[in-house]
Amino acid sequence: MIFHQLALNVPLFPLLTYAHPTILAAGTRVAVRFRKRLMTAIVWESNIQPDIDIKKILPIEVVFEDDWLLPSDWRELLTFTARYYHYPLGQAVSSALPKGMREPKTIALPVADKVYKLSKLGRKQNAPAARFHKQLALWHRLQTSAVSLTQLKAEHNQAERYLHKWQQLGWIEADSVSSCGIIPASQYQLNSQQQQASHTVQAGLDRFAPYLLYGVTGSGKTEVYFDIMAKVLQQGKQVLFLLPEINLTPQLLQRVHQRFPHTATALLHSQTASGERTRNYLRAALGQAALIIGTRLAIFTPLQNLGLIIIDEEHDHSFKQQTDLRYHARDLAVWRAKQHACPIVLGSATPSLESWYQVKQHQYQLLQLTQRAHANAQLPKIHLLDTRRLPLDQGISEVIKQKLQKNFQQGGLSMVYLNRRGFAPALFCSACGHAFGCPNCSAKMVLHQYSKQLRCHHCDFHQPIPHSCPECGNQDLTAVGQGTQRIEENLQKLLPEAKIIRVDRDSTSRKQDWDNIYNQINNHDVDVLVGTQMLAKGHDFPHLNLVVVLNADNSLYSADFRAPERLFAELMQVSGRAGRANSSGEVWVQTQQPEHKVYQALVAHDYIAFASAELAEREEMNMPPYTHMAAIRADAKTMNAAQELLRQVLKGIRQHEQLSAKVHIFGPVPMLMARLAGYERAQVFLESNQRKELHQTITLWDNWLTFLSKYYNRTRWLIDVDPMEM
Ligand code: ADP
Ligand code: ZN
Repeated sequence: MIFHQLALNVPLFPLLTYAHPTILAAGTRVAVRFRKRLMTAIVWESNIQPDIDIKKILPIEVVFEDDWLLPSDWRELLTFTARYYHYPLGQAVSSALPKGMREPKTIALPVADKVYKLSKLGRKQNAPAARFHKQLALWHRLQTSAVSLTQLKAEHNQAERYLHKWQQLGWIEADSVSSCGIIPASQYQLNSQQQQASHTVQAGLDRFAPYLLYGVTGSGKTEVYFDIMAKVLQQGKQVLFLLPEINLTPQLLQRVHQRFPHTATALLHSQTASGERTRNYLRAALGQAALIIGTRLAIFTPLQNLGLIIIDEEHDHSFKQQTDLRYHARDLAVWRAKQHACPIVLGSATPSLESWYQVKQHQYQLLQLTQRAHANAQLPKIHLLDTRRLPLDQGISEVIKQKLQKNFQQGGLSMVYLNRRGFAPALFCSACGHAFGCPNCSAKMVLHQYSKQLRCHHCDFHQPIPHSCPECGNQDLTAVGQGTQRIEENLQKLLPEAKIIRVDRDSTSRKQDWDNIYNQINNHDVDVLVGTQMLAKGHDFPHLNLVVVLNADNSLYSADFRAPERLFAELMQVSGRAGRANSSGEVWVQTQQPEHKVYQALVAHDYIAFASAELAEREEMNMPPYTHMAAIRADAKTMNAAQELLRQVLKGIRQHEQLSAKVHIFGPVPMLMARLAGYERAQVFLESNQRKELHQTITLWDNWLTFLSKYYNRTRWLIDVDPMEM
């Protein structure tokens, strides 16, 4: 028997030993029993000396011979990821595989796309008779040029059947296609800044080089990505293009398709149906797809021939996974680019302070686009309205009402932004002041008028709207504050003739919702858009000329040190929607703190000043990116139980171990949102400017937690390296 180290999806154990009569190549997918259950596992190492009693070692039950091997660079990536994020390797491996490969079953490998054309023999045949009009159409198509199977299938639903028949008769021949295909020229002539950015990257395609493409909204970053991508694809290499889920819009995909119509593309995001995701993962892995577009999870796609990574909206927080394996796709992407010796371009109009810091440290090269690309487009003029002095009517000031009315009369498109969906963010009893909080979370419940519910936006809890106060019985309940539904209603009263569309998670829950909205906007059927973040990101509505921000101040009161950075990015994004084409844009922001640095920088369109000031503050307070952090979290039914485990570990660590003096430990303290989905959450922060010492200390915590948590079996714990949540 030969012994193998396998990665399988079980907690705590790094790798498990199983036996097989022959040597298996590392990367082979197999199925084994673990506690009686048949599970998928990946061979990590073959022919090892087991350090346990070999009589206890179970055999590998199935070897999926027909699979392809998970390549060594992919295994290195996962080894690194598991180590860096202090997460069990087998579980990390499992979460990096699509569902189809996690199940202990054989998978069908996708077949490479082929192009078909008539053979010599075929050209001597008579075309099918006219009454078989479907066959005839297909035949004519093959006569004119070589066409790919995907294309033919899209045009003729029976294509595969006839192709098969004609191929057997020798009438047509198939050729495999290059996955990059022919790339037509761009419809745009890049301006000089765009050219310079693109050329800089293109000058070093064969080595690792990280770039930060900092370009104001509408400056044509996407065209720069496309220009570099075209070059890399033409060299026969693969491109990985990552973007936030919310930006993966039909509009973006349409742009990609227009620019790369013949390039084999694989789309990977959480909403891709499971079978399709497995297929696309494999197409990418087998080199059948040249362009891989996806959200954070796409970072784990095996790519043999990677030539370029693009991260659009690199500052976006959705690149960090907030559950299970808490990886940051942007950071892993930089690691992967280094591994594959290829360039990586991080793009944003408001780069993360982490990336900006790398530029200041000369680790990343800065590429800048300072102007809008469209010839007549100007950055919008941004105005602040001090709501301490202006009376608000249902959350809207008179100035804004007039602006909206005027823009409607003149046929413009307006956008009203607020980051709260639902009707009103809170419901109160007007007699005793009782607030309807979520029983499971430290959060108020949001009133949803249309579904007649109070809903918690943090967990699944919801209930019918109560008729009276549970504490005093009073029936007069007051909805406080503004949500998108309420603003939509009020705007409809203000502009009875206007076509108003609300865009938030509630109104776009079905797949076709966005398509409908886009069509209406493009046909100029919409006058006012009301919505949340969903409206802010990545969209290009050329005729949008008025943006109104209603209440953004909330996050200024947050104790999270990243709150100002986040708010600034959000407001720059929202403002950036205005005036992207011929019409110049205006932005009006209601705030109670117009003097705040976030708003001042916003008005001045001055990211650089904001970033410099913010970095100076972080340096002074010794916060990331000047220091490295990890959070150790515990949750339990009571805050005391959650903190107790952390206190005991801390005690153990302080007593017995050589703790590095270079690592500072804070806590345990409650998380900012202390209660979530029925659990009280506590945390300890580890902080150091030495990564190595930090990781050594995390390992200590990991070991102690593993050991002690047996005695606290009602308390769950986790490790979050480079946490984004406080
Ligand atoms: P960003 O990604 O920086 O926000 P986009 O790439 O979406 O900007 O470009 C903004 C608009 O400018 C788009 O409508 C795009 O088609 C257009 N555009 C980009 N580059 C050029 C160019 N060189 N000439 C003319 N228009 C351009
Ligand atoms: Zn809740």
